[in-house]
Amino acid sequence: VISVRNVGKSFGGIPVLRDISLSVSTGEVVSIIGSSGSGKSTLLRCICQLETIDSGAISICGEDMASTDSGSGLVSYADKATLKHIRSHIGLVFQNFNLFPHFSVLRNITEAQEVVLKLPHGQAVETARTLLAKMGLTEKENAYPCELSGGQQQRVSIARALALKPEVLCFDEPTSALDPELTGEILKVIKDLAAEDMTMVVVTHEMAFAKDISDRVIFMDDGIIVEQGSPDSVISHPTHERTRQFLTRFM
Ligand code: ATP
Ligand code: MG
Repeated sequence: VISVRNVGKSFGGIPVLRDISLSVSTGEVVSIIGSSGSGKSTLLRCICQLETIDSGAISICGEDMASTDSGSGLVSYADKATLKHIRSHIGLVFQNFNLFPHFSVLRNITEAQEVVLKLPHGQAVETARTLLAKMGLTEKENAYPCELSGGQQQRVSIARALALKPEVLCFDEPTSALDPELTGEILKVIKDLAAEDMTMVVVTHEMAFAKDISDRVIFMDDGIIVEQGSPDSVISHPTHERTRQFLTRFM
């Protein structure tokens, strides 16, 4: 579903992603771990078109999003319509929920369905209610985001992403703005999605969770993928010193 090949990205001359290659297959759950500043969010943002790449190539669901001309070394992006189509394959859930504060819970979930997918209001509401029920939030459809707990807001933002029926769902530290007791409810939602074979890329600092749900764990440090493999190999039996050092902080 996702193919990232030899991607490089710098900010102000400082490399943040160096020759990153990564592929994610349908139904796979991939966790990305690594210390602050290692480039995890930047990588997700490049995949979701929130950031452009300086070199390399990215394709999503078999469609080329960006590629580098081998002659000139310049990156070219697909045309606008293709980029928009590619973007529709990916759902993104942020750390800080990013709900529309002036919309009700229901409208937060129906809005993009109507605007982006051009679905009729009735159908958007039906999908929203089904997802709210799944998230245990049926009672909250008329509430505003500020009236909800952080965990509830995050469940609404997951419902909002799912309403657009993405092929892959990306999470950037979905629980790091939450109290520990609310973290569990979000991890449970993600785990349920994994059981339904949703393809997911999860940037997380929750090692136990990453170990529990992931098919593959990727450890990033200083803009490179230092090691990747099964949760057992990367988290329980890391082979690289840098991975070991990082993990001692969670022991
Ligand atoms: P964290 O765990 O703290 O979220 P991260 O692994 O997600 O860290 P990134 O947010 O990808 O790290 O940042 C990687 C590096 O790129 C950092 O040094 C950061 O300061 C830098 N960076 C990120 N975004 C920008 C930007 N828009 N402009 C300049 N520098 C940036
Ligand atoms: Mg980050």
